[in-house]
Amino acid sequence: MPRSICSNCLRPLPVCYCPHLSQLRNEWPVYIIQDLREFAHAIGTARIAALSLSNCHLLVVDPDNISATCMTVLEELRASSPVLIYPGEQSKSLSVLAELPKRPLIFIDASWRRSRKIMHRLPWLAQLSRYSLAPIIPSRYRIRQQPDTQALSTLEAIAYTLAAIERKDNAYHSLISTMDWVIDQQIHCMGDAVYHANYQIKE
Ligand SMILES: [Zn+2]
Repeated sequence: MPRSICSNCLRPLPVCYCPHLSQLRNEWPVYIIQDLREFAHAIGTARIAALSLSNCHLLVVDPDNISATCMTVLEELRASSPVLIYPGEQSKSLSVLAELPKRPLIFIDASWRRSRKIMHRLPWLAQLSRYSLAPIIPSRYRIRQQPDTQALSTLEAIAYTLAAIERKDNAYHSLISTMDWVIDQQIHCMGDAVYHANYQIKE
């Protein structure tokens, strides 16, 4: 028999995080281009952002086969002068972005390899102006092995980016608190032994 799933957060009812969500008003529109593979992952941190922020759009794409409907939405997004929030040497500081008129912020929720594939399929994305956080904040996302501990989850990147460009220091911290709760539940479910053996980031 299938487990009962919450229709809002898509988690099994015993670990539904909806009571832990807060409703936040963001000034800069957020668009998350999510790899289909991330959508299927047990803890999709991007969904926490989509359910919490007043202006957040989650676009699930299969880079191997982007649907016509999805392409239409992406073309509309492309026409709205968005910027890409993406780490790397080509990225400018968020303090530069904060001085510009508000525009959509695009985040890619995918592994490094798959995000490069998405940009290969959508070359205009790769050509957008890029901005990123200074890599000073260690990730709290403890559930998946990251290529390096500086790599933030999509949710953390969204929370820290909005706080930086809207100059609201702790306004988005409740996103991180919800993520912490979800991860604690997941670690509890898998058991401490499995977690420590497989997932904990080596200090
Ligand atoms: Zn729920």
